Amino acid sequence: MDNPSVFITRKVPEDTIAPLREVADVKMWDYEDTPVPRDILLEEAETATALYTILSDGIDRELFERAKHLKVVGNLAVGYDNVDVGAATEHGVVVCNTPDVLTDTTADLAFALLMAAARRIPEAEQYIKEGKWGNWSPLLLAGQDIHHKTLGIVGMGRIGESVAKRATGFEMEILYHNRSRNEKAEKELGATYALFDEILERADFVLNLTPLTSETKGMFNRNVFSKMKKNAIFLNVGRGGAVVEEDLVAAIKQGDIAGAGLDVFQKEPIPEDHPLVQLPNVVCLPHIGSASVETRKAMCSLTARNIRNVLSGERPEAAVNWDEIK
Ligand code: NAP
Repeated sequence: MDNPSVFITRKVPEDTIAPLREVADVKMWDYEDTPVPRDILLEEAETATALYTILSDGIDRELFERAKHLKVVGNLAVGYDNVDVGAATEHGVVVCNTPDVLTDTTADLAFALLMAAARRIPEAEQYIKEGKWGNWSPLLLAGQDIHHKTLGIVGMGRIGESVAKRATGFEMEILYHNRSRNEKAEKELGATYALFDEILERADFVLNLTPLTSETKGMFNRNVFSKMKKNAIFLNVGRGGAVVEEDLVAAIKQGDIAGAGLDVFQKEPIPEDHPLVQLPNVVCLPHIGSASVETRKAMCSLTARNIRNVLSGERPEAAVNWDEIK
């Protein structure tokens, strides 16, 4: 019998895919670090037993309909909004993701973004680099305090809890909102459950960490920003689709909120003339939440193990539709 075939849509470290090479023929898209073109992805999907994908690949119904041999999609992310999981399940394809291994690293970045936006760190660094530092003055580049402030986390899951743990060190009050209560966060981190509107009304920092779903798409809109405090900073480390960006730009320009820190955007990558990049009180990062070398390698290894397990008929360490298929 032929070996199964795996198509990897972006160059990943060779040592992390060694377990896959033992059981499958592996082909990797490795062309000047550019995304695989759609037509090539579809062509490869037609013959592949497994796809190893990244979050910018649209793994949709059309692909599943053409991919007659496909058994598993291993997505190199915890979020899987780029994969039509319903269509995958209908076609008997297991969808795997990478939870847990990126939790602490992403929480570190979320907290760094909070601090950068609150204390205007990128602006301050730019100030020196542009040779503007002439004098010390009392309110020069003065930002907002972080300690003893109120952090509102929307989406208190794995990463949310990890951010809350960091916030306790800053003696922050922690409010959270989910569709269901997170008793662990309440007991172990002293977080308080709040309705969404209560978070908007009370939090100095509102952090989105929800997955992108039909419910969360566009949930941060004009109406929501208008309910936030004028000194509030909005942070998004979940997915860009949760935010109506025109509304965020308008809210910041008209002073409804004080600023924002964003790691994710509606359509990535964003150009340097994007309206959010133009605002001095917005810190923009290029979707680097989980981007430490250790964590990215751990994510790559987990994706390889997930695919290998499915190809060997074993339960993968992380799959989002395993129980529906098996
Ligand atoms: P998780 O453990 O599943 O947490 C997600 C939380 O969101 C859950 O507590 C869930 O609680 C809540 N939630 C879901 N739908 C909601 C809704 N409609 N309203 C309010 N809360 C809702 O996931 P995680 O590992 O923490 O990751 C969270 C997300 O972060 C991922 O899905 C991904 O999109 C994003 N992420 C981004 C980066 C980055 O690089 N920026 C890195 C990693 C992850 P309920 O089910 O009770 O509502």
